[in-house]
Amino acid sequence: MKLLVTGGAGYVGSVVSALLLEAGHEVVVLDDLSTGHEDAVPEGARLVRGTLRDTAADVLGGAGFDAVLHFAAKSLVGESVEKPGLYWDKNLGESLALLDAMRVAGVPKIVFSSTAATYGEPESTPILETDPTRPTNPYGASKLAIDTALAEYARLHGLGGVSLRYFNVAGAYGRHGERHTVETHLIPNVLKIAQGDGDAVKMFGDDYPTPDGTCVRDYIHVTDLGRAHLLALNACEPGTHRIFNLGSGTGNSVREVVEVCRAVTGREIPAEVAPRRAGDPAVLVASSEKIQAELGWKPERDLRAMVDDAWTFLRSR
Ligand code: UDP
Repeated sequence: MKLLVTGGAGYVGSVVSALLLEAGHEVVVLDDLSTGHEDAVPEGARLVRGTLRDTAADVLGGAGFDAVLHFAAKSLVGESVEKPGLYWDKNLGESLALLDAMRVAGVPKIVFSSTAATYGEPESTPILETDPTRPTNPYGASKLAIDTALAEYARLHGLGGVSLRYFNVAGAYGRHGERHTVETHLIPNVLKIAQGDGDAVKMFGDDYPTPDGTCVRDYIHVTDLGRAHLLALNACEPGTHRIFNLGSGTGNSVREVVEVCRAVTGREIPAEVAPRRAGDPAVLVASSEKIQAELGWKPERDLRAMVDDAWTFLRSR
């Protein structure tokens, strides 16, 4: 298929682009390089530099694309609370420009990179796709609004869409890994300390109602996540919008993650308890039964493999 990957110079977008190329697809990456990296775009993909608002219509027009995989987004929860307008504009506004460009160009399918942040504080665990969506920050709210738009484009324009709601993505695929300028995520932050960059891991809160008091999250390997996109692409049906959670279905605490990082790196990795981080739910674990049952996906790589691959990636840089 001929595919447009928006945000293909970013972490997940570059991994999925690489997997798509390996599967024999033609890939064009559209990225404004505001947070992505030109050298992350895999060999064999053509990079078009630009925003969705300014360039999507030109790139898609008359070019015979079969589908879009849409990753381009702002994705920092804290920043979204400080600058909600930016998140509504970049995430929802630019996605609407993309959807309309697809409609005009007659591109029939889209796979959308969504997030567990659309659910907000869960009422029960593991989280099902049918659970209430009550995002607690503009990042999650803007992503949820895109799901609403996708459902409308499916109903009214016949688009075939699949939204994948990611839980905690980690790991790397060869030279494609996490390279955020502002790094907020746990595993890369712990591995930075392992490398001697900083004094101690800050574990945000140890008084949560969890077995060891630290927050529990559902970590998924970026290549398992990537494989799900290829399945989702084939599952896009005209006139329908489907939503699937993507997690491993198991939870690991912050302390457990630090322990696995110590075991993988063989380094001591000092860690200290710090105050809670605002807005962190105690437990976020996905039910991934729906995607397992309907698309035949299942996670293959565990937390140790995620840390192992992230550590190899970090040391290669
Ligand atoms: N966390 C931590 N120290 C860090 C970064 C994160 O204790 O330096 C905790 C964070 O409070 C949360 C978990 O690790 O409970 C996962 O956070 P991350 O930012 O990786 O992902 P999120 O679940 O927020 O999407």
